[in-house]
Amino acid sequence: MDESAIEQAELHQEFLKQKAIERQRAQVPKGIGPEECECGNPIPLKRRELGYHTCIACAEHKDRRDAQHRR
Ligand SMILES: [Zn+2]
Repeated sequence: MDESAIEQAELHQEFLKQKAIERQRAQVPKGIGPEECECGNPIPLKRRELGYHTCIACAEHKDRRDAQHRR
């Protein structure tokens, strides 16, 4: 590993650390859901205010799955 590779690795670590901090900041106080769904899609504010923790696509996917289970 040469010097620049070490520097790259350090930069990457720093990048990951910043990402982790951002994620924690994105955790919104109670009553409102997270900004991002677990799939990575943004969740519309309206849904977050209603307490949903998933984006519309995931919710539809889940609905469909539940419907299949019921049958
Ligand atoms: Zn989603």
